[in-house]
Amino acid sequence: MDIIHIAAEVAPIAKIGGLADVVFGLSRELIRQGHQVKVIIPKYDCVDLSPLHDLEVDVEEFFTDFEGERYSNKAWRATCMDLPVYFIETMHPRAFLDRGKIYGCEDDADRFLYFSAAARDLIVSKGWSPDVVHTHDWQTGVVPTLYKELDGAKTVFTIHNIEYQGQCQPEQLTSIGLEGPQYLKPDLMQDHSDRAKVNLMKGGIVYADFVTTVSPSYAEEVTGWLGGRGLDPTIMMNRQKFRGVLNGLDYEFWNPQTDPYLPANFSLSGDHEHTLKNRAIVTKALRESMGLADEDRPIVGVVTRLVPQKGIHLIKHALYRTIELGGQFVLLGSSPIPEIQAEFEALRDQFQDHSHVQLELGHDEELSHLIFGGSDMMLIPSLFEPCGLVQLIALRYGSVPIVRRTGGLADTIEDVNYSEKPISERNGYTFDHTDANALNSALDRAIHCWKHHPEVWLRLREQGMSCDFSWERSAREYVGIYEDICAK
Ligand code: ADP
Repeated sequence: MDIIHIAAEVAPIAKIGGLADVVFGLSRELIRQGHQVKVIIPKYDCVDLSPLHDLEVDVEEFFTDFEGERYSNKAWRATCMDLPVYFIETMHPRAFLDRGKIYGCEDDADRFLYFSAAARDLIVSKGWSPDVVHTHDWQTGVVPTLYKELDGAKTVFTIHNIEYQGQCQPEQLTSIGLEGPQYLKPDLMQDHSDRAKVNLMKGGIVYADFVTTVSPSYAEEVTGWLGGRGLDPTIMMNRQKFRGVLNGLDYEFWNPQTDPYLPANFSLSGDHEHTLKNRAIVTKALRESMGLADEDRPIVGVVTRLVPQKGIHLIKHALYRTIELGGQFVLLGSSPIPEIQAEFEALRDQFQDHSHVQLELGHDEELSHLIFGGSDMMLIPSLFEPCGLVQLIALRYGSVPIVRRTGGLADTIEDVNYSEKPISERNGYTFDHTDANALNSALDRAIHCWKHHPEVWLRLREQGMSCDFSWERSAREYVGIYEDICAK
């Protein structure tokens, strides 16, 4: 099949979170399974061009209509680990894509409406006729609406996080050639909380031929009042074309056996002693790079966007609890929310000279790999989590996940003591509630096991490393969806 993904992020070159990993990993697996795949993303000025090969101009000039004027764009083409990526650069005087960041501008809705229209224009100007155009989250939620006017491609829309929905004025739809006010109806794109606005994620749900979200549990949660964030009635109305497909992980990129960011490589299949020795080298390098004391203590790692969804109060509590229990705590995170960033900067400064706690505030791909490969346990205490990739990466790199049982975390992590699954299928620690005691109930058990039952700990780590959350099965499920909608 011929599939085009249109998205705001793709790993590792334009990445804020899991969306980027999913677009990258799913696309590459679809290629491995014999399909033609392209990804179209914005050519932000902050794209990391270093992993790209053969970057060149593909279309010198093509046009997009915006607010009644015609603007010129340029398309670039490159490959990123064999994945063909097309970049849209715009000459629009508002420099929509040159903001030094991917999200967080006041006119984000205009920026991504323009990009969505330009992506459609690129496809048309190239004469491509994909079987399926697959779009992701609110930023490209308008694409299925744009596509309903073009014959040909079917559309799939994936909800990666229903928290961010992209509300805007109907006139902003008009600016890209749609009849904006016509969409201001409850069964179309009218926003549930501000009835004068349209909701771009809702448009994706209503107009796509099929809608997915990133885990079966989250698919369940978003049909409810709490999880649906106001879109639950829309999802219920469209449930015949809605399904949760568990994300996979790109096992070639996230591979501790070949990972170039690690100072020593290891794998489960290697000689046991060699694996232990090399993993210990990574742990030592992590301690050195973060300035932690080189002592025999369990390291609890956190790699996250610092937003309320991720359980900020529980992350802070875990820091203090880890010290109390004699562990070490490392955090790599950054926040788009100034108050949270400031709160963590204060915490970082407070622990600057501490030998068992260090916080690094920013986005750092290399350090994240070191934390996955060098920590003993990875904490993910999310209040909600559509799928979560951190726990999947942690499993693969031998860091035992400690997670709150919600969304995709519940679908992938089985508690070593309390699961109904056979012992051999258990791979971490879970807790249910959102208070400090609940977190303690899991963190305490993990640190106790690390300290007092090292042989059990090693077995648990190995069971985690042997889990298979590669993209293969999930990509086949997507292909099934693509085939079904194309057959209709
Ligand atoms: P979300 O998409 O909600 O941020 P996921 O768990 O699905 O959460 O994906 C997070 C991805 O972003 C993972 O690949 C993780 O390693 C990466 N990541 C998160 N924060 C950072 C950071 N500060 N530096 C480097 N990578 C990060």
